[in-house]
Amino acid sequence: MATRKSGTTHGNTRSAVTRAATVPARHLSTRQSGAKRGIRARYPWKEEPNPYFEVRQSRIQGKGAFALRNIKKGTRLIEYVGQRITWRTADKRYDDETMGRHHTFLFTVDDRTVIDAAVNGNDARFLNHSCDGNCEAITDRKRIFLEARKSIKAGEELLYDYQYERSDDHTAADERTYACRCGSPKCRGSILAPKPAED
Ligand SMILES: [Zn+2]
Repeated sequence: MATRKSGTTHGNTRSAVTRAATVPARHLSTRQSGAKRGIRARYPWKEEPNPYFEVRQSRIQGKGAFALRNIKKGTRLIEYVGQRITWRTADKRYDDETMGRHHTFLFTVDDRTVIDAAVNGNDARFLNHSCDGNCEAITDRKRIFLEARKSIKAGEELLYDYQYERSDDHTAADERTYACRCGSPKCRGSILAPKPAED
């Protein structure tokens, strides 16, 4: 079993954990006055290098992404790209049991498809996890985008909630593997998605 991140749909973690919901495209018209016009102004997240953040050493873990300028809440920052593969291929490629350390570059698109950012991935793969991050992953028509969940100041590290999917066979040892020390007052103690509420 390979562990994958999962996106959120406006805080509705329950649907995000199981499958991608179709989310209306948001903020496509976000545009700062005086900014570039045309296609570049509409899709700045397509630019390389990314205009919103840079990747450098993080105190949280390995490399991280840091805001280059103040970013408005709701801004689409980058698309999470990589090779699109089936879950079956992902499980063959990465096995948590034999790998020892959990792999962090898989992202669930839906119940068939996973994005593996270890292959042809971009800088989106360097954003670290926080239980209460300033960014969130949005699933939009089978594509994954990282967007600002809050207003972000230049220099802040960009973080979002990985919400690693829970599987029925997760053991206490797995829980320890995925323990979170993000330091947020709202830290739930685990990088795994919150357990779905019974209803
Ligand atoms: Zn945490």
